[in-house]
Amino acid sequence: MNNNKNYFSSKNNLKYLILDTSSIFSGKFININNVKIVTTSSVIKEISPGGKDYRNLQYLLEIGLKVFEPSKESIKKIKIISTKTGDISRLSQTDIEILSLALDLKDSKKEISILTDDYSIQNISNYLKIDYSNISQIGIKKRFIWSYKCTGCGKKFNKNIKICSICGSEIKNYISIKKNINKFK
Ligand SMILES: [Zn+2]
Repeated sequence: MNNNKNYFSSKNNLKYLILDTSSIFSGKFININNVKIVTTSSVIKEISPGGKDYRNLQYLLEIGLKVFEPSKESIKKIKIISTKTGDISRLSQTDIEILSLALDLKDSKKEISILTDDYSIQNISNYLKIDYSNISQIGIKKRFIWSYKCTGCGKKFNKNIKICSICGSEIKNYISIKKNINKFK
């Protein structure tokens, strides 16, 4: 875990929910009650500033998403295992790092689950007896909706503009949550 050892050895029984790139791109509201949400720095690097995915990421960081580097030992193990299962050609370096972080956490006796729609990540998780949840199946029935509101006159806009066309003040982005989205495709 490099220098993250203390963090993971803290005494609490919270479940660690590991987010891969697909789960951040999904833009779905992640219920963080009783879970710690974590990801790897390689996932963060895949999300370039600006745009919806980046805003989703910013939101997740605000609500407590923690970013870690997996150990080299675990990366090595995941590469060996995924070669054995034939998944290696379908796994990106980021996918491998997500699985390696999961392995690190599992080795430090944490209760973990990977949130991913990636079949190869799920396959390796199965192999390692690591729990995972499918983004489209988990009880995430809410989705991020972004709204834009003028800091001056308070007018709401449905487009991401920087400056209010009415009073010239700055527009702020904020999240409103749309409820009851059941059809994820
Ligand atoms: Zn205004």
